[in-house]
Amino acid sequence: MTSTAITNIGELVTNDPDAGDLLGTIADAALVIEGTSIAWVGRAAEAPAADEQVDAGGRAVIPGFVDSHSHLVFAGDRAAEFAARMAGESYAAGGIRTTVAATRAATDEELTSRVAHLVREMRRQGTTTVEIKSGYGLTVHDEARSLAVARQFTEETTFLGAHVVPEGSTPEEYVALVTGPMLEACAPHARWIDAFCETGAFDADQSRAVLEAGAAVGLRGRLHANQLGAGPGVRLACELELTAVDHCTYLTDADVTALADSGTIATLLPGVEFSTRQPYPDARRLLDAGVRVALASDCNPGSCFTSSIPLCLALAVREMGMTPAEALHAATAVGAAALDRDDVGRLLPGRRADLVLLDAPTHVHLAYRPGVPLVSATWVGGRPV
Ligand SMILES: [Zn+2]
Repeated sequence: MTSTAITNIGELVTNDPDAGDLLGTIADAALVIEGTSIAWVGRAAEAPAADEQVDAGGRAVIPGFVDSHSHLVFAGDRAAEFAARMAGESYAAGGIRTTVAATRAATDEELTSRVAHLVREMRRQGTTTVEIKSGYGLTVHDEARSLAVARQFTEETTFLGAHVVPEGSTPEEYVALVTGPMLEACAPHARWIDAFCETGAFDADQSRAVLEAGAAVGLRGRLHANQLGAGPGVRLACELELTAVDHCTYLTDADVTALADSGTIATLLPGVEFSTRQPYPDARRLLDAGVRVALASDCNPGSCFTSSIPLCLALAVREMGMTPAEALHAATAVGAAALDRDDVGRLLPGRRADLVLLDAPTHVHLAYRPGVPLVSATWVGGRPV
């Protein structure tokens, strides 16, 4: 097996949980890769010999971003809707129906090539693990093929049939379909199940029915909740001990207490608030209460069409009270935890060699230099991609 040493790393972010600082930072560091995994990390002066050497030139190396929330399987374009919203119209969940029509009309090849394009875009911006949801098919056939397309790109596929009730269906009929034939067709292609628990989408009882049906066939649960207003979703997620509950923009004190008392991770998606001119979630309040906070892109054609985790980090620091270290940790180690993964998100021996070489001396530049393309190289499984 060939070994590769990345040497002369000015700042290495390991996310070592046993280190004295949140990011487990090592100065003047090196990292040795064997095959697809990390074999050694430490001070460059103490690095073992390796077959190949890569000189980082004093720059920073961080874990690859783990984007635990995206909706990449879709067709169509909603630039006109975005422009209308920026001209003063308010966002409503109904805009999803435009994408549903285009997605149903697209071929598998068209959907696959669009996902490939977006995944390449993410890689260029440092994302090495991505979760991809269905949710723009809303028929048994279109949800199952959306997940089959997503599976070509990631193991972290999520069945989101309960995204919105399609035209021509009542909520009761549709929930019966999602928890019955649609689940049966989708479960083989999915690791996760999700629902949009929000006024205008699915209420708490309907969301619970979807999540419990998924759990009964072995799917892990996550939930969209409390995006557009306060509601029961966050407490439902905590009660069901879901891995993560996503958005968490409008939270009561009871919601924050429930998150702190449960193991459920709050995944914040600041690109959505940026793109819809809504108030940002209060990350500081959650962190101070002891809640685990992840950051993800929510890349989707309606409410947030960015694939950039660096943008999300900059927003979280500037607008949500996070430190640069907390934001990076949230998009790497906690993002991995939000997918129940311990093989990614940290640069430690035995973990996957998924990493990013920054054109910067420190991770702080990700927030300090917003909008600047600082990702010099992205490595997945021990190789640059
Ligand atoms: Zn979403």
